[in-house]
Amino acid sequence: MEKQFQVQFWGVRGSIPCPGTSTVRYGGNTPCVEMGVGGTRLIFDGGTGLHVLGQHLLPKMPIEAHLFFTHSHWDHMQGFPFFTPGFVKGNTIHIYGAIAPDGSTIEQRLNDQMLHPNFPVPLQIMQSKLNFYDVKPGNSIHINDITVETAPLNHPGEAVGYRINWHGGATTYITDTEHFPDRLDQNVLWLARDADILIYDSTYTDKEYNSPTSPKIGWGHSTWQEAVKVAKASKVKTLVIFHHDPGHNDDFLDAVGEEAAAEFPSVIMAREGLVLDVPVSVPLSESFPVS
Ligand SMILES: [Zn+2]
Ligand SMILES: [Zn+2]
Repeated sequence: MEKQFQVQFWGVRGSIPCPGTSTVRYGGNTPCVEMGVGGTRLIFDGGTGLHVLGQHLLPKMPIEAHLFFTHSHWDHMQGFPFFTPGFVKGNTIHIYGAIAPDGSTIEQRLNDQMLHPNFPVPLQIMQSKLNFYDVKPGNSIHINDITVETAPLNHPGEAVGYRINWHGGATTYITDTEHFPDRLDQNVLWLARDADILIYDSTYTDKEYNSPTSPKIGWGHSTWQEAVKVAKASKVKTLVIFHHDPGHNDDFLDAVGEEAAAEFPSVIMAREGLVLDVPVSVPLSESFPVS
């Protein structure tokens, strides 16, 4: 039987794509996570991983997808102008994002990054049906029988965290966010509560974050040690270390994985191609294939 709630990683890197011989095992593409939920396709972020996902979807067209943006820093939307299914008539893409602090919608910001001279063709040339929705962090979004909960994160320019609930299974997607020095973030804990899978911004190690010569405090990202604290406090079943620093090569990430596993046994390092199944309780008569 096809799994019914499945998470697949197409881009796991933060800040900038970093292809090369030292990053082949974890991958160099920027964030894009696909979830097949009861036959509905959800996509989180449009980093360069979205281009790879788009090529994978070409033989499956026409497609319908729900694309959620955490925010519009470059590494989370740069793949959108290269998402080939977006240019093909007959496909439908529902696009969700919060209003930015400057008042701009996700539609405006996706539009702006494709304007001349930054890009050769405007967004209006995309022939798929694009439906845009403004997310109000704190509100829930309902798609069929899926509930997507949202909350604001602590990040320069703001970002939105998402939690996807379906038939007793829950996956939480939290990137980009910075932890507080003196307490755990209540919004993060709420989104992560008892989740089967928590995907969390673990860009740095604590040592890098607190470096006396090159601290990363105030840069809007967190550490794998903070990820473990959140995972324990919110009783998540599996923690996924995500949004890897582009300066961390495969061997470095192997070492992070070993150190994190010593603190929290059910930890997984995000890598391109990783597929995780979320346990759900769906009557067999209601099962859907995930393509
Ligand atoms: Zn980022
Ligand atoms: Zn960011």
